[in-house]
Amino acid sequence: MPEPDSVGLCRTCQWMRAVTNRRGSTFFRCGRADLDARFPRYPALPVLQCIGYEKDRSDDDTGRGGKGQVP
Ligand code: SF4
Repeated sequence: MPEPDSVGLCRTCQWMRAVTNRRGSTFFRCGRADLDARFPRYPALPVLQCIGYEKDRSDDDTGRGGKGQVP
């Protein structure tokens, strides 16, 4: 997997679809591109600003006993 800073916002976006080929290379596909032509299917990385960015809820630490919560 690439380093986090080399990917940018896509890494934590709920629309990101990581695709790993047989050679082990990982590509970041934008799921919004299937619905909206303004988004490139494979955005140039790192993505530092994006109007379509929506934080992936599975990355959210609150509410379900995630890290940082007092037992
Ligand atoms: S909506 Fe933007 S931030 Fe999210 S996956 Fe697509 S290009 Fe990346």
